[in-house]
Amino acid sequence: MRLSRYFLPVLKETPAEAQIVSHRYMLRAGMIKQASAGIYSWLPLGYRVLRKIEDIIHDEQQRAGHIPLLMPTLQSADLWRESGRYEAYGEEMLRITDRHDRDMLYTPTAEELITDIFRANVSSYKDLPLTLYQIQWKFRDEIRPRFGVMRGREFYMKDGYNFDLTKEDALHAYNRHLVSYLRTYERMGLQAIPMRADSGPIGGDDTHEFLVLAETGESEVFYDSEITDLKFGDREIDYDSHEQCRAVLEEFTSRYARTDETHDEALFNQVPEERRRTARGIEVGQIFYFGTKYSEPMGATVSDGEGNQVPVHMGSHGIGVSRLLGAIIEASHDDKGIIWPEGVTPFHCGIVNLKSGDEAADAACDKIYAALRALGLDPLYDDTNDRAGAKFATMDLIGLPWRITVGPRGLKNGVVELTSRRTGESEELPPEEAVAKVA
Ligand code: ATP
Ligand code: MG
Ligand code: MG
Ligand code: MG
Repeated sequence: MRLSRYFLPVLKETPAEAQIVSHRYMLRAGMIKQASAGIYSWLPLGYRVLRKIEDIIHDEQQRAGHIPLLMPTLQSADLWRESGRYEAYGEEMLRITDRHDRDMLYTPTAEELITDIFRANVSSYKDLPLTLYQIQWKFRDEIRPRFGVMRGREFYMKDGYNFDLTKEDALHAYNRHLVSYLRTYERMGLQAIPMRADSGPIGGDDTHEFLVLAETGESEVFYDSEITDLKFGDREIDYDSHEQCRAVLEEFTSRYARTDETHDEALFNQVPEERRRTARGIEVGQIFYFGTKYSEPMGATVSDGEGNQVPVHMGSHGIGVSRLLGAIIEASHDDKGIIWPEGVTPFHCGIVNLKSGDEAADAACDKIYAALRALGLDPLYDDTNDRAGAKFATMDLIGLPWRITVGPRGLKNGVVELTSRRTGESEELPPEEAVAKVA
C-alpha cells in the first residue's frame, strides 16, 4: 500500500477522553473512531488488525476441529423466554421492539440461538461430538463503556458451543478449547493465563478466564509466578486425544491463578511467598462447561443408541476479538507508539522515502516495494512529501515491526537503513539484503 493513496488519519494531539495507552494510540494511529458511547467505526488500519486477529482465531478453531457458521445479531426474545434468561439477563441486554410489537434483542451471547439450531437438526448421538462457532458482533449495554474497544457496548466476539453425549466428552471439548486458546493467544504474541473464574450469568460448573497481565486491566489477579514461565510453543497436539488435552489443562491450571472473584487467601498462602504475585489483568477469553443448563429446558436431546432420549452436554467458549487489539497494545508499546507482534501487524514493513521526487530514491523504493510484495508481504510505503521526522513519527506510532529507510545519500553508497521497531536497532545494508532480512 502506498501511503499517498491510503486512508490513515493520524492525530497529532492526544485525545483528552482516552485514559489508557491502547485507547490513545488506537485513536492517534487512526485505527478507530467513536460513533457513539462504546460504539466504534473501524478505520482501515484498525480493520486490518481486526482481520488479522480474526484469521488467527479461525485458523486455530478449525485446527481443533470446530466448525464456523454465522448467526444474526438480532434475535427474537422468545428463545430467551424458553431458557428463562430473558428476564434474568438484566440491563446489559439491548431490547428492541419491531413494527409488529414483537420483542427482539441484540445478541449479547448466543447459547439459545445455537441450541435452537442444534435441536432442529440433530437427533442422534452419531452426529456428536459437534462444536460450532462464529465470529460476530455482540451488544451489551455496559453501564460504563470505557477504554475504547476494551469495554465497548458493541464488540466483536468469537463464541463457540460444544454439544456432546456425555459429561466426559464435554469436558474433553472444554480441554480442547483451552489448548486451542493457548495456541491462539501465543500466535498473537500474547501471554494469556488461564485462571479459575466465576461462572456469572452464563452459569456452569467449570470455567476458566484467560487473562493478559497489564496494569490497566480491570480484574485483580493472584497467581504463582511459575505460571508465567509456561509456554505452549510449537508442540504437536492431537485434538482428538482426551489424554493429551487433559495433560495440557493440568499443566496450565495446576498452579494457583485466580481472579478476585474466586480468590482464596488460604490456598494462595500455600504458594511459597517469593512466588506469590498480585497484579491486574485483562480478560481476553473465557471457557465454560455448563452441562444440560440449556439443552434440558430447550429440549435439545439426542438418542443415545440404547433407546433413550438424553439432553446433550454443552459448553460455550468466548474470545474478545475487538478487546484483543487493546490488550495487545497494552502489552506491547513504548512512548512512541504501538509495537505490533509479527502475527497481527497491519503491514509487515514500512518503507520511508526520505526524498520523494528524487529519481534514485523513488526508483529504489519502488524496487523494494515490488520485491516485498512479490514475497507475499504487505509493505506500507510512505511516498508522501512529508518531512522525514514526521514520517518516522508516524511509522513509530503505527508500530510496524520493520522500517526500511531510503535516501539519496545512502543510495550513493549502495545502502538503505533497516530498523527494528522493537529494539530500535538500525543497520545499513544493500536493498536486497534488507528485503531478505525482513522476509
Ligand atoms: P467482562 O468481565 O470484561 O465484562 P464478560 O465476562 O462479561 O467480560 P464473556 O461473557 O466471558 O465476557 O465474553 C467473552 C469475552 O468477550 C470476554 O472474555 C471479553 O474478552 C469479551 N468481552 C466481554 N464484554 C466485552 C465488552 N463490553 N467489550 C469488549 N469485549 C468484551
Ligand atoms: Mg461483562
Ligand atoms: Mg468477566
Ligand atoms: Mg467472562
